[in-house]
Amino acid sequence: MERQGGRCWRLVLVPFPLQGHISPMLQLGTILHSRGFSITIAHTTNLGSPDASKHPDFVFLPLSSDDSSSTTESKDSDDFIVFVSDLNLNHRASLQEQLTEMVEKREQHEELPCIVYDTNMYSAETVARHLKLPSIMLCTSSASSMIAYYAYPQLLEEGCISLQGPESEELVPGLHPLRFKDLPVFDFKNPDTLLQLEASLLALSQKWLQLPPEEDHSCITWLDKQTDNSVIYVSFGSISSLDEKELAEIAWSLANSKQPFLWVVRPGSVGGSESIDVLLSDDFKGTVGERGCIVKWAPQKEVLAHRAVGGFWSHCGWNSTLESISEGGPLICRPFFADQRVNARYISREWRVGIDLENDLKRVEIERAIKMLMLGKEGQEMRQRATHLKTKAGLCIKEGGSSFNSLNKLVELIILAEG
Ligand code: UDP
Repeated sequence: MERQGGRCWRLVLVPFPLQGHISPMLQLGTILHSRGFSITIAHTTNLGSPDASKHPDFVFLPLSSDDSSSTTESKDSDDFIVFVSDLNLNHRASLQEQLTEMVEKREQHEELPCIVYDTNMYSAETVARHLKLPSIMLCTSSASSMIAYYAYPQLLEEGCISLQGPESEELVPGLHPLRFKDLPVFDFKNPDTLLQLEASLLALSQKWLQLPPEEDHSCITWLDKQTDNSVIYVSFGSISSLDEKELAEIAWSLANSKQPFLWVVRPGSVGGSESIDVLLSDDFKGTVGERGCIVKWAPQKEVLAHRAVGGFWSHCGWNSTLESISEGGPLICRPFFADQRVNARYISREWRVGIDLENDLKRVEIERAIKMLMLGKEGQEMRQRATHLKTKAGLCIKEGGSSFNSLNKLVELIILAEG
């Protein structure tokens, strides 16, 4: 791949191996490839790798894991922080080796590679510095979430945090519209660990970190049979999990709402069970019949773009939030942890394109929210506002729009750093 002056510009992207992190990194790679960069994906393999067949123009560089360098018992650990730390420690040597070889073997017309790494793959920064390579960090959550993370030390110092509990409805000074309960932090009692990573994620296990199952396209055929804006799509992303009681509340709220629904239930995401079929009663299945479609993994973007989908009940991961808004879809917000609470707050309070579902999952309350979103006047107004946001988002990526300009600046920055 060549750019001005016959020079070759290579980017080495280092994604974190979770769906919500891999997708935006690959999307960035696709955009930058269209601007003339050669793209190499340096990825871990012990959990799951990005699908190389979907990106024939990229070079995929598997990193080997050096388990002997691990100082912790991460294999059986549920501790996400330990997991991230081990992942970095175990792949640093391989990344350094591969990059050293890349630099040494590069041809005369090739510039030094620039490293683009996910926030969670921070050891790539150490390697880049060691090899004197330019580097850029990609943060896959929203700017508002990052601001909230970074504001935390100050709030701690000023004593605001100790005065408030994790359920506090008080507005955080300087962080409108966030309340203390929306902060992307996890343990108000142990503030020292707060700045590292979101704690509810501590429940993450290696099993959850597998790449998701194959997309089930049969749900599109099912959607084709439904009327416009009639279907509520339900998905809580690639990590979140439920217990069996919550599953039953969701199932019966969907049944009682009488709305058609498309529901994603990942294997292992409900009480560790591989099959949802055994968890759902015959009574539920009989009541719902053809009105409901349950899949293990949906082609989400295609689903959200479908004319039949009229609302999205989401955990408000940043990707899901953007994907829904880009299609003008209103939401029901059920954040689980981390930045999802910040996103939910913006969706419901600031942009007013969604309904917050805050308390314990109760079928009557969920049913009310579904009806309000799908049939009520409030839902209709939210859909109108979401359509307006869709138009705005479309303008951002058009020539002269803010995202378009930011990407141009990024390209200039990389060329400046490499050249
Ligand atoms: N996703 C999908 N099919 C599904 C569920 C989710 O393709 O059935 C995709 C979704 O489009 C999004 C990603 O998985 O791009 C989830 O990322 P998000 O940031 O929303 O949540 P996370 O999984 O990180 O909690």
